[in-house]
Order: sequence, then C-alpha cells, then structure tokens
Amino acid sequence: MQLSKVQKVIILIGPPGSGKGTQAIRASKELKVPHISTGDLFRENLKNETELGKKVKSNMDAGKLVPDDLVLEMLFQRISQEDCQNGYFLDGFPRTIPQSEALDIHLGSNANVLVLNLKCSDESVIKRISGRLTCKNCGHIQNKYYSPPKNEGHCDNCNSTLIQRPDDREEVVKERLKVYKQQTEPLIQFYKNKNVLVDIEAENAPNVVFQDLIKACKA
Ligand code: AMP
Repeated sequence: MQLSKVQKVIILIGPPGSGKGTQAIRASKELKVPHISTGDLFRENLKNETELGKKVKSNMDAGKLVPDDLVLEMLFQRISQEDCQNGYFLDGFPRTIPQSEALDIHLGSNANVLVLNLKCSDESVIKRISGRLTCKNCGHIQNKYYSPPKNEGHCDNCNSTLIQRPDDREEVVKERLKVYKQQTEPLIQFYKNKNVLVDIEAENAPNVVFQDLIKACKA
C-alpha cells in the first residue's frame, strides 16, 4: 500500500463468522500493515492468565462484550506501538458507538479511516462458526465444512491441535449475533454518515471477498 504521512486505519465490521479475521490476516500481509484483533488480544490475556484476562473471562465465555474502558485501554496501548505508525487493520474494534467515538477522538485528524462492512446472513454465520476450528498454537483458522484439516484434528499450518473456541458453541454464537445486532450494527449508519463505509459481499467465495477488500483499500 502507498502509505502517506497520514495513518491509514482500516476497520472491518461484520457479524461473527463473516470472515473478518481470516480476511484481515491475509490483507494485512498483502498491504504490509499490522492486523489488530481485540478478540485475539483478549484471548492472549486469557491464555497468560493476566489480571485483564481474569477480568474479561466471564464476559467472553458468555458471548457478551467486555466493558468499553477495558477494551479502550488495551487497544490504545497496542496502536501506540511503533509498527502501527503508518496504519493498521482493526478487526473486532470498534464494536459500540462509544468505542467509535473514543477512537475518533484518539485519532484526531492524523488518520484516514476506511470502514469495510462484511455483509453475511445469519444462516451462513451459524454454519461457518459451528464448523470453525482454531489452532491452539498459531491461531490459524480452518473449517470442518469449507477447509477441513488434511490431518484430522491438526492444523495445516503447524500441525498443532485444532480446537473449537468456547464461544463458538451454538448457544454462545446466537448470543454473540444478538449482541452484534444490538450494539455493533448501529456503527454501519454511524460510518455511512461520515462517508467512509464500503460494503463487501462476504457470502462470496473467500478469494472474491479478498479481491474486493484489497480493491477497496487501494481505491
Ligand atoms: P472476537 O474474536 O472479535 O469475536 O472477540 C471475542 C470476544 O472478545 C467477544 O465476544 C467479546 O467478549 C470480546 N471483545 C473483542 N473485541 C471487543 C470489543 N471491541 N468490545 C468489547 N468486547 C470485545
């Protein structure tokens, strides 16, 4: 990506299972900017049993959002690091209007914000998530229907064990979808009003979604 002095901040919005994570990882490699997933940052804290991890565990396990103040502190600390100077992908943040407003204030006029809205139906979301398998070691994501592991139960990337995330169980997915509709969907209008939102049809094949996404980032 041709990066100017102004930071390019690319926000991915979409329901759980819309492919945000997979696409963001791929696009961040292609455009050579870091991929920042607040969900991954929280899971790292859970794994390392940090104080923050202990505070967020019950919310995460139940598919509920973590309180804004905890998310904001963690996120702002991450994006202040050297590798984010020219820009970054945000995956899973912001998720509420107060988070978007806080991000706007934090960025001031130094950033060029682009919001990609990954559109996906509820039925696809539930099928995608209930089949999702995540590598315990490297975080690589596979799906037992769409990208089954070559060696059953093992990651194609590093051969470690693939697991189902506790919050990918069907009852938790339904709660996450409810939370998405109530708290995150209003962001679509929020960013539409600012003229920075581009819709991406996330029901398409992953390669098509990827091409659309890169095209939007380079436009
Ligand atoms: P994700 O991997 O993005 O689906 O996030 C997993 C879980 O982490 C969510 O269900 C929330 O409990 C928590 N989480 C991640 N990002 C945020 C955020 N921006 N605001 C509040 N909670 C979050």
